[in-house]
Amino acid sequence: MAQVAFIGLGNMGGGMAANLVKAGFDVNAFDLAPAALQGAVEAGCSAAASAVAAVANADYVVSMLPNGAIVESIYIDGDQLLDAIPQTALIIDCSTIAAQNSRRLSEEAQKRGISCIDAPVSGGVAAAEAGTLAFMCGGTEQAFEAARPILSAMGSKLFLAGGSGAGQVAKMCNNMLLAVHMIGTAESLQLGVDNGLDPAVLSEIMLNSSGSNWSLEKYNPYPGVMDNVPASRNYEGGFMNMLMLKDLGLALDAATGSKSSVPMGSLARSLYALHAGKGNELRDFSSIIEQFKKSP
Ligand code: NAD
Repeated sequence: MAQVAFIGLGNMGGGMAANLVKAGFDVNAFDLAPAALQGAVEAGCSAAASAVAAVANADYVVSMLPNGAIVESIYIDGDQLLDAIPQTALIIDCSTIAAQNSRRLSEEAQKRGISCIDAPVSGGVAAAEAGTLAFMCGGTEQAFEAARPILSAMGSKLFLAGGSGAGQVAKMCNNMLLAVHMIGTAESLQLGVDNGLDPAVLSEIMLNSSGSNWSLEKYNPYPGVMDNVPASRNYEGGFMNMLMLKDLGLALDAATGSKSSVPMGSLARSLYALHAGKGNELRDFSSIIEQFKKSP
């Protein structure tokens, strides 16, 4: 079976690597955090001693890392993985990073004869575990088709948005919208509760009315309304506020470059900066609802 090197086994990467194992791939995993690596081993991956060791003999290299600086450092400037990856391998970087970081990675890979696509995801930790992620990819048609067996083992919706970096552009637009509807959902639920409604009843009404959206359907921010979401476990796990803040920063940087007007995205970034700055960086992004709760 094909060999996959998987780097970055956190909230998302852990479930994704486990699904590759379930699909029959040999997965050589590496993460700086011993607990993350141990989780991957329990899911059937082999533990590599370093990122460089993980990629020896790889047919595919999949990465799921926090930000663009780390991706560039691992592949190009620091660990210099590109010099250790076999020429026949395909790099599938699933991290959410700036389009220019993805283009640089792709160009540097190409110089060494290695194919690369950006393949950021949507769906959250539950979809990563269930293998139902949406992948939005940037790269050549040929590289996208070559990635299909790997992507299909981890997701159920695969899109090619365009050339290198296009997957990141799609992802940043999607996450700006996600931030906006999560904030709107949170303030609406809190308004209802402040005016005497049960949040579960209000959620059911809005889900079946014109306010329905993904945050209400899959990721209700009000504690106790929905099982198996971060709101029902004190906002642990899930998608950290610091990562949402990063994504909104990517969207605003791009908007500055293209001179686009993004008033809702700008406000969302400010609200997430406020919330993250109050000690909430590592908590799930649906905890933004706490900004709308009145002090006891
Ligand atoms: P995470 O922090 O849980 O996982 C990142 C992992 O990368 C950690 O285990 C960390 O130890 C590891 N890592 C960092 N630097 C490393 C290095 N130099 N070498 C090896 N491992 C290293 O984050 P996450 O929630 O899994 O998010 C990962 C990416 O997925 C981010 O780009 C995020 O924006 C994106 N994303 C997250 C979600 C979500 O719901 N959590 C959804 C869609 C996209």
